[in-house]
Amino acid sequence: LPDPAVTAPQDADVAALLPRPGATSDKYRRGVVGIAAGSERYTGAAVLAVGGALRGGVGLVRYAGTAEPVAQVRARWPEAVITTLAPGEGVERVGRVQAWVLGPGLGTGDEAHAVARSVLASDVPVLVDADGLTLLAADRSLLHRSAPVLLTPHAGELSRLTDVPRDRIEARRLENVRQAAAELGVTVLLKGSTTLVAQEGRPVVVNPTGSPWLATGGTGDVLSGLTGALLAAGLDTYDAASAGAYLHGIAGRSGPLSAWDVAQALPEAARGLVNGRRRGV
Ligand code: AMP
Ligand code: MG
Repeated sequence: LPDPAVTAPQDADVAALLPRPGATSDKYRRGVVGIAAGSERYTGAAVLAVGGALRGGVGLVRYAGTAEPVAQVRARWPEAVITTLAPGEGVERVGRVQAWVLGPGLGTGDEAHAVARSVLASDVPVLVDADGLTLLAADRSLLHRSAPVLLTPHAGELSRLTDVPRDRIEARRLENVRQAAAELGVTVLLKGSTTLVAQEGRPVVVNPTGSPWLATGGTGDVLSGLTGALLAAGLDTYDAASAGAYLHGIAGRSGPLSAWDVAQALPEAARGLVNGRRRGV
């Protein structure tokens, strides 16, 4: 008998969740996502997160970062609307967004903390990944907000957030992700060989797509941007996480691949789902 505490979505379930523009859509109503990612040292994370959002079918990306990642994002994604942040500045000047992605390559110093504080002070859903999770682990007060939060840790990042040792998380991933979501009062997408999505009161999603080819630098940043785009389009944190992981897994089903390739493969993955012409998982 199926376990009601877990669920594994199929193509048709995810296809039904994916936003599709209507005749009267405009870019703002399709979803504006803010991306606060990258740092002078880690510029690629910003490029990949923006790419995940753009290839995920967002209406508009507003990117906020410091000089070097801004230069890289500008060079690769002319589509993005960019705000260059002064050191220590928050995202207040960025303009209206419907969801934020916070953290890939952001760094963990005082300037990154100021960015995190300003993003989490907004009244829209926030996806927190990577360095954003490290900042949260060091300052739990950042989590005190009323709008939804989606955390996208791998086991090591979840360990820092919950004080459960990494090997204990890996040994009991389902129990630990469920408990973390309940205790923190957020949605948690736990990355790894099988990605899980937990939210209190909902069955844990066991993502059936993906492959070990995804175990390469930067794929997590693409997932963050993609899932942020789905949040901005109006999916709730649980559905955005489920659909994001599913689509990302299809885009990464065969390799060799780089994270850039995963982002580039997203449109075809989505088309295959929506047209129902994919064979197998
Ligand atoms: P990150 O941990 O942020 O670098 O993200 C890595 C991405 O690759 C996540 O989406 C993981 O779920 C995925 N991934 C990593 N290792 C594997 C694996 N062995 N099999 C399937 N997916 C994986
Ligand atoms: Mg990562």
